Amino acid sequence: MLYLYKHLLPLNLSSFLLIKYDLHSHTTHSDGHLTVEQLLNRAVEKNIDVFAITDHDTVAAITPAKAFIETENLPLKLISGVEISTKWESFEIHIVGLNIDINNNALTSLLSAQQQKRDERAIEIGKRLAKNGFDGIYEQAKALAENAQITRAHFARALIERGVAKNFPGVFKKYLGRSKTGYVPSNWCDMQTAISAIHAAGGVAVLAHPGRYQMSNKWLRKLLVQYKSDGGDAMEVAQPQQAPTERQFLGQLSQEYGLLCSQGSDFHFPTSYLELGKNLYLPKDCQGVWQVWEGQEGALS
Ligand code: AMP
Ligand code: MN
Ligand code: MN
Ligand code: MN
Repeated sequence: MLYLYKHLLPLNLSSFLLIKYDLHSHTTHSDGHLTVEQLLNRAVEKNIDVFAITDHDTVAAITPAKAFIETENLPLKLISGVEISTKWESFEIHIVGLNIDINNNALTSLLSAQQQKRDERAIEIGKRLAKNGFDGIYEQAKALAENAQITRAHFARALIERGVAKNFPGVFKKYLGRSKTGYVPSNWCDMQTAISAIHAAGGVAVLAHPGRYQMSNKWLRKLLVQYKSDGGDAMEVAQPQQAPTERQFLGQLSQEYGLLCSQGSDFHFPTSYLELGKNLYLPKDCQGVWQVWEGQEGALS
């Protein structure tokens, strides 16, 4: 809400005034449950000043979001974003691109390749699940996705509708998680390809939710070494649902590996435990990723 004048202040003062940043969220253009308009209205209600929409492998939400902000005169700054799925070793690593030019050719061609992979993988997931007694599950998931990027979250919703599990963690544990019946190993691009496309689009690359890959700290460090050498700029350090010790640890790692820090709710839908902008702050001495574009703005003015 206060962004319009807060961002004119020097960085140290602006952080003192607590600009509220939430730099990771989803709409119905991927697996979020809220439309662009609903999500933006909610972000304003929650007093977010700087807000990034980061749908899975698509930037389809950005143009309508900008238009809605303008027509409704919403008091928030939108950061154009995307969350790109990549493959590293046997893990699926998500890389968020922030402050990107959504019309950049390198980025749009990477995203269309990723979208094709999503479609092909969804058909395969459907086949595997059909073999295991879930006839028509692909059609059901596809109907839930409508024209959005289809994700495992759509299959999760379809399976929950059939009563096989009560919630997302349950259905991923049983059917969709790594090495489970409905899991199809991904063929996503590698980290360097995603980072290069983000850079080509003038954006900053952020390693998404490093605490959620179910890997040991040894592997996490190995990932950070690779990510850094692939040109990664930043990593997410703060998420709403996270032990303070994890946040502290990720903050330390960011400094060790020379990465800027980001914070985001990864909001998909309202729940009692997760909300836009909730519990988002960086540990002391962490450098916010927003320095990059705030520095650019400063340089321009
Ligand atoms: P995909 O990008 O198609 O592999 O789908 C991944 C999406 O499914 C994530 O962005 C989450 O929204 C959701 N998801 C993945 N794993 C889990 C999990 N264990 N519990 C809940 N949601 C999950
Ligand atoms: Mn998701
Ligand atoms: Mn993710
Ligand atoms: Mn996400």
